[in-house]
Amino acid sequence: MIFGLQLRCLKNYREQNPPKEKHIQRRFDSFDNLSTSAQRSRVMSVGQDMQQAFENSKLSALNINKNLDQASLIKTTFEANGTCYELYYDKKNSNVEEEAIVKVMDEHNISRDSYRALAAIIHSLPREYAIEKRRNEINQTIIEKIPIFTFNTLIENPLENSTSGNDTEEEIDENIVIAKESCGNGVRRNIRDILYYLIPYLIESKILKDSDELLHIRISGDGRNVGRKIKHVMITFALLNDHENIFNPKYHYPLVLYTGQEDYQCLKNASSPLIQELNFLKENGLVDNFGKHWKVSLYISSDWKFLTTVLGFNAANSDYFCPWCICKKSEHGNLDSNWNISKKIEDLSNNYNPKNPKLSKGQIKQPLFTMIPLDHWVIDELHLMLRVVDRLLTLLFSEIKITQSSNKNYSEALRKTVQEEMERIKVSFKFSLAENSKQWTYTSLMGPDKLKVLQSFDLKKVLSASRADKIRELWDDFAALHNNMCNSSYSPLQFQNDALLWIKKFLTKSQGNPLKSDFIEGLYNASDVTPYMHVLVYHVHEFMRIHQKFGLKSFSCSPVEKKNHMHVNKFFNKTFKDGGSSNRKSAIYEIMESENRIIYYLINNVPSATTKPTRITIKENK
Ligand SMILES: [Zn+2]
Repeated sequence: MIFGLQLRCLKNYREQNPPKEKHIQRRFDSFDNLSTSAQRSRVMSVGQDMQQAFENSKLSALNINKNLDQASLIKTTFEANGTCYELYYDKKNSNVEEEAIVKVMDEHNISRDSYRALAAIIHSLPREYAIEKRRNEINQTIIEKIPIFTFNTLIENPLENSTSGNDTEEEIDENIVIAKESCGNGVRRNIRDILYYLIPYLIESKILKDSDELLHIRISGDGRNVGRKIKHVMITFALLNDHENIFNPKYHYPLVLYTGQEDYQCLKNASSPLIQELNFLKENGLVDNFGKHWKVSLYISSDWKFLTTVLGFNAANSDYFCPWCICKKSEHGNLDSNWNISKKIEDLSNNYNPKNPKLSKGQIKQPLFTMIPLDHWVIDELHLMLRVVDRLLTLLFSEIKITQSSNKNYSEALRKTVQEEMERIKVSFKFSLAENSKQWTYTSLMGPDKLKVLQSFDLKKVLSASRADKIRELWDDFAALHNNMCNSSYSPLQFQNDALLWIKKFLTKSQGNPLKSDFIEGLYNASDVTPYMHVLVYHVHEFMRIHQKFGLKSFSCSPVEKKNHMHVNKFFNKTFKDGGSSNRKSAIYEIMESENRIIYYLINNVPSATTKPTRITIKENK
């Protein structure tokens, strides 16, 4: 038998310490004649010899003090009779590696099956069951600090209740499957549990400074379709104190998650413990584990639907459409009024009227988060941009009559032109005609694609040169407004003027007689103005001023949307899901466990990579 590894020091050691009689006796039997367990103990004996040799030689060769433990043998690898043996000495080290693997699997959506397949090829990877064990240990460790509670939201015939509604903004992905029995499942965590656990880390990493006294807590909500009328709904919080990480989904911590409807009743049921906690935090602040007292300032930001739902306010197409002021739909064309945030959350809380919303100026239910002042209900720049671009695109398409099926040849050619132009600016875009429909529909675009269309679509391809210039100017001005609203050093007063000029341009009236040559066609009508445009013109500059310290961009819901998207893709997508076990925990519980682990990785500084070892090849002594 020949070992594939030769250690000169081992040889020296053997010479200095002749093996005991018993050892020699045992080694008379040939290795391949031994039983598996006897082979194993002989391999271990080689390992022990090597460790002893290493301990002896580190004193002389490395000149390292034995008691200081600066050098230790981690593992040795050798081959005997075609079998490769790896002997591990240091258990601590493998923990770090296993935790890093659990983290990387979480962050890169590597399923257990995929990992198992890889580990069957690369044998230096820890076994999948060891990784699974470590994952469970992490879950156990953190759940003692941050418990996960389950609940059920009331849900009325989720699968039958598929009446129209205005949920068309997002398509339903056919790959997303949700078991009927999971509808209404919810999980939640206490915000105080998370804060207690996080604060020491935030202090240590200098995100919270000694001089800080206030925790600026931003609540956000988001619902994403996981089926007809069923949504994955989340309520998260983030700390605005953490400027650096506010755009990173990892630092938005879910407090409530459920699969169900994004309506007032469900949200009320789901968030009632959270509401109590927020009331308490606002009243009493928080005393952390070091005895320091923190005051708490609360904010909320989300898309229009979530915001008006938890505010108990009526739909965006109602007469009183604005959550912040009492402007009416019919007043969109009146540019002389100066609307500002005039409502107070306390008034809304006392004066709501489900039967006659006109009397309560659109307030139909009691707001859920009454502890947050109305000027801390901040508009989300992402949805404002998305919806205004939607409107600009709809207006363009209706002007060139591209979505109507009349005048077939003309529209067909035009649709081809638009598709080619979209291709040129690298936006994936298609028109399609639904069965029994006379209206053409088109791909709903994601945020970055919408910006591309806004900035780069060549309008001259579909409009006359002068008309194209006019609309291009309007689009460019909006792109600049969106850019400036996200820039915390831009002057709010300047923005107020810019936005007013923009809406004036949008509402440009036609001049002259349409039948004569001096006729100049205007742009759009007051009825084309949307609630988001009203907010852009009248309230964005106020938000910029009030929240200048953080910048409006810090209230963007983009990271929360990304988190929701990741959850849905990872846990509800049938192509990603691990098969097997029938008594799995509910998907929603697994999501919250994975969120708990994100906090664990953060606090324990679990690495995403380990140091590459220095490899040295020892040549054989001949
Ligand atoms: Zn308003």
